[in-house]
Formats: sequence, C-alpha cells, structure tokens
Amino acid sequence: MRNRLIIVGAGPAGLSLARALARSGAEITLVERQSRAALADPPPDGREIALTQTSVRHLRDLGVWSLIPCDEVHPLREARVLDGGSPFTLAISSPKRRGADLGVLVSNHLIRRALFAAVEGQDGITLMCGREVREARADSDGVSVKLDDGTRLEGDLLVAADSRFSSTRAALGIGAEMIPIGKSMLVCRVRHEQPHEGIATEWFDYKRTIAMLPLAPGISSLVLTLPHERAQDLAALPLAALGPQFAALTRNRWGAMEAVGPVVAYPLTMTFAHRLCAARTALIGDAAVGMHPVTAHGFNLGLAGAMRLARQLQGAPDIGETRLLRRFAVAHRAATRPLYLATLALVRLYTDERPPARALRKAMLHTGAVPLVRRALGAMLVDRAHPRPIRARG
Ligand SMILES: Cc1cc2nc3c(=O)[nH]c(=O)nc-3n(C[C@H](O)[C@H](O)[C@H](O)COP(=O)(O)OP(=O)(O)OC[C@H]3O[C@@H](n4cnc5c(N)ncnc54)[C@H](O)[C@@H]3O)c2cc1C
Repeated sequence: MRNRLIIVGAGPAGLSLARALARSGAEITLVERQSRAALADPPPDGREIALTQTSVRHLRDLGVWSLIPCDEVHPLREARVLDGGSPFTLAISSPKRRGADLGVLVSNHLIRRALFAAVEGQDGITLMCGREVREARADSDGVSVKLDDGTRLEGDLLVAADSRFSSTRAALGIGAEMIPIGKSMLVCRVRHEQPHEGIATEWFDYKRTIAMLPLAPGISSLVLTLPHERAQDLAALPLAALGPQFAALTRNRWGAMEAVGPVVAYPLTMTFAHRLCAARTALIGDAAVGMHPVTAHGFNLGLAGAMRLARQLQGAPDIGETRLLRRFAVAHRAATRPLYLATLALVRLYTDERPPARALRKAMLHTGAVPLVRRALGAMLVDRAHPRPIRARG
C-alpha cells in the first residue's frame, strides 16, 4: 500500500479533503501555518458564503453540516440583478419547485470551525499547525516537503490547498493564470430598516458593484467592489460613520443602515492553475481555481474538487497513481473552466465603463436567456438557476 497523503493548507478545501478521506485508510498529514487555536475558533472574516444545495449535501455527507448552528444558516429565496439606475430587474429563482430556496448563506468562519471540529482527533489524521511548508518536491518515486522548523515529511501524494497564491504550486513548477482585477471587495454586516425577505440583490452601478446578501431578519451582508484606495478609505472609517455612507450608496433602498462589522477589504485576483495534477501531486481549492467572489463559487468549487479527488483515491492501492490524478484533473477542469471563463467575461464587462460595454450589459440583462448571463450571473449562488425578468419598465 502507498497511502501517505500530505495536504498543505487546512483552509476549507484542505480540511474537506482530509475529512472525506478520514476513513479511507490513508495516512493523512495536514500542514497549516495558522495556529491550532486560530483554526479551532476562527474570528469572523466578513465573508458570507452562499452554499449551493449540492455543497450542503456534501457537508451533510461529511458529517459537518450538523456542526453549524441552525440559527446561523440563512435561506436564500431569490436573487435579483439590477443595472445602475434602471428599474429593470432580472430575478433568479429555483428551477426545481416554486418556493424552494436557491441555497443558503453561512459565515465563512463557521464553515471553517465546523470543518476543523470534524477533522480534529480523527484516526489517521495528523495535524501540524503553526508550521509552514517552505520546500516541496514530487516525482514518480514519492513526495517530500520541508517545514519552517526543518522537519522533513515524505509521502506518496502531495495535495496543494494553500490558497490562490499557493507557494507549493510554485515550488513544484506549476504555473497559473493570474488576473489582478484592480479592485477590492469590501464586506460588512449591516442592520437596515426595510426587510430583505430572503432576497439577495446584486447591483451593477457606475464604477462599482453592490450586493446585499440576506442574513437574519433586518441584517444583511453588504458587499462593495471598489477601487483599492476607495475600499481602504472606507475600511479605515469608524463603524458609526459607515452606516450613512452605505445607505447613500444603496440609494436608501433598504432605508437607514447601521454598520455592524467587521469591515474587511479583499483585493481581487482570479487564478487558474495551468495543471491540476502533476507527478504524485494534485491541486484543490483556490490553489487550483481562484474564482472572483461575484459569482459566489470559490468554496462550492473547492468542496466539489475535494469530493471529486477523494472519490478517485478511496481504496486505491497507490494514492499517487497518475491515472487517478489525471481522471480527477480532467473532471475538475471540465466542471470549473467554463464557469471561470464566464465569470471572467462578466467581470470584464462590468468593470468596463465605456458606452458600448454599458449598452451591451443592459441588453444582456434584458435578455436573460443569453448563455453568459445564465451561466455566470444567473448561476450566481445556485446550482442551476432560472432567470426571469420581474419588472421590465426601464
Ligand atoms: C469576500 C469573499 C466572498 C466569498 N464568497 C463566497 C461565496 O459566497 N461562495 C463561495 O463558494 N465562495 C466564496 N468565496 C471564496 C471562498 O472563501 C474561497 O474559495 C475559499 O476560502 C478557498 O478555500 P481554500 O481552502 O482553497 O483556501 P484558503 O481559504 O485560502 O486556505 C488556504 C490555507 O492554506 C494555509 N497556507 C498557505 N500557505 C501555506 C504554507 N506554505 N504552509 C502551510 N499552510 C499554508 C493558509 O494559512 C490557509 O489556512 C468568497 C471569497 C471572498 C474573498
């Protein structure tokens, strides 16, 4: 048996893979630069993750879903897309049955906490926290990594799950498409006067996009995509000063607002690894495909990738066998590349303020049947969305 697996990165993707293989007989070592305390109880990071029904099913299968408090799971009934000041709205609802939710919203830190709780103490999993991988090597004979304290680990398969800027990927000589978007995404929980009714709103405004993601009654996550400096300036303001600014930015659509926080600005870069596998190596999570959050698929795709890889490795006499890794890579690329490209096209269209681009997006929004809209905008937050115009006066 060749079953020694080294996973670099105990983020949501690395933890999902470890959990999925926990009872497979693999001998798993998970190396993570953050401390055990930070993993066990991560602080809120402002990210509210829109989980598809498929992701919820995966988390249930992994025994992770029950570790997320029910009152922290917020149903997403419908998503609406607006363009600037136009009254036209594209509504996206579940195609499955009337009244069914599109998905749910759960805070990122709660997903990470639940995944860690499910992995910690599992037989066959060794967690090396507070340790950073500094060197990595892999060839057909085996893999090895060197940690910051000089420890060397050897194995039969190396999985890089160490973020979109993966240093393991770079150390192994695997390149990646890196596309800086030139904007930051600012996130902040807000309390607001008008009810959200479980409806997410994505709003493409002049030089910025705004999203309101519905959480508890009267509470939403406000998500602004802005030039870096503007995002940094807003993030530096005291919470009390932000509410009126947010209300003005959203044109008082939800009435008066109070910023609850935390306020976090994420600089945006999209990435796609040139290869998702190499000799005794596989890439998962953002290290494989780093999505733009606008279509809310990063974790959903990362989880799907971890499950896909785990299915290939279950019961294999040699978990680093090229045939298995290639099968994973082909399937994962096919499942992610079209959505990645559609998201990129959409991001480019919506960050272009020249008149032809503005006219094109208005036309696209009004013809919700356009495949790009359906694939990327329409697929926002859901497995297979059903777009329909609801107020075509503009
Ligand atoms: C604002 C925002 C909103 C989002 N909303 C959604 C959404 O609605 N739906 C959705 O599906 N996704 C969403 N995402 C994307 C999602 O958060 C990411 O795709 C997901 O967190 C990626 O998980 P990961 O495990 O691949 O990487 P990461 O979360 O980046 O984890 C990587 C881990 O590797 C560790 N590490 C790095 N280098 C080393 C090293 N050398 N040695 C040891 N450890 C190392 C890091 O400490 C980290 O813990 C959003 C992202 C943002 C920024």
